[in-house]
Amino acid sequence: LEALPKPDEIKSFLDEYVIGQVFAKEILSVSAYNHYKRISQSAPNVEIEKTNILLVGSSGSGKTLLAKTLANKLKVPFAIADATTLTEAGYVGEDVESVLERLLSLANYDLSIAQKGIVFIDEVDKKARRSESSTSTRDVSGEGVQQALLRLIEGTITKVKVNGGKKIVDEFVEFDTSNVLFILSGAFVGIEKIIEKRLKKKTTIGFNSTLSDIKDDNYVLQKLQSSDVIDFGLIPELVGRVPIITTLDKLTESDLYRILTNVKNSIIDQTEELLRIDDLEIEFSDNYLKTLAKLAIQSKLGARSLKGLLENSVFSCMYRIKELKQKNINAIRFDDYPTNHDKYPVLIDNNNKEMTDTNYKLYRGVSEI
Ligand code: ADP
Repeated sequence: LEALPKPDEIKSFLDEYVIGQVFAKEILSVSAYNHYKRISQSAPNVEIEKTNILLVGSSGSGKTLLAKTLANKLKVPFAIADATTLTEAGYVGEDVESVLERLLSLANYDLSIAQKGIVFIDEVDKKARRSESSTSTRDVSGEGVQQALLRLIEGTITKVKVNGGKKIVDEFVEFDTSNVLFILSGAFVGIEKIIEKRLKKKTTIGFNSTLSDIKDDNYVLQKLQSSDVIDFGLIPELVGRVPIITTLDKLTESDLYRILTNVKNSIIDQTEELLRIDDLEIEFSDNYLKTLAKLAIQSKLGARSLKGLLENSVFSCMYRIKELKQKNINAIRFDDYPTNHDKYPVLIDNNNKEMTDTNYKLYRGVSEI
């Protein structure tokens, strides 16, 4: 237990990698701390109930990154499952149990370590009963998957394969999920309308009079309650097992800028490192970074599009690495995001001579994930 970092230490670690999302970070830190304290109880006087967490926030706001960084700090195995690929056992698709298999393999088949891992289940909103995607044909498997998830997160013993692909005959272990920390996540597109409706109902009977200033998306989302998630289409039994619900704010342009400049291991650092291996310096001006953030906001994919946009702009240089080396180029400098000719990067050779990169191309459509 001494080794368990305190909530504020967890939060500081999250701060190094994740921009903004202060509420979510603090709530996650405390919940994770409580969870691991609970499972370290040897002879409990009072049995502390298991709690799981639901993160609600738009795509690319840092839900997965938060959970992954949390697992890194706590040094526990971390597995991601996508609710849309999960099925109830018996249907074709990925069984809920296979997530545990992944945890086990990450823990090198040490059951006691695997059983203390974190499982992140993304896109749970897509399994909502009245999901918007399932128009007239009701998504029958949606509720089934929710039931299967419910069993899993409330703590169950499941047979999990351990052959790891090596043995001919499958071997199974009994995997107890009681101590696994489940973090459910989803964008819940449109849930603001449900919240607004509830808030407005309250207004007419006089509890709340500030609805006129509901203009900020984050403001509405921050009022999220479990009843809204149920109205959205998660089954009450499942929501009941996830008492901690927290929302993530939409990232602003300046948040995106900070993601490029203020986090450890940023995609800018990674790109610099990749080129450094080829003895090439790459330099991005503040202008470049600001434009990149602006373009990413326009794409509406949150921070998710930063990487793709960055790659679009540097792949041409990476592709022509041999040519650049033959020209004795030591460094590449982007004074702006190269949306047109006069913003193409500058090449600098070993005599410090600068020249515009005339063979440069801005790529399009490189993966945005
Ligand atoms: P979500 O799970 O909310 O859809 P992710 O956590 O997968 O989003 O984020 C996608 C990528 O965007 C991450 O790998 C990370 O590089 C970046 N990112 C998103 N949000 C943040 C944030 N708040 N701080 C730093 N980076 C972020």
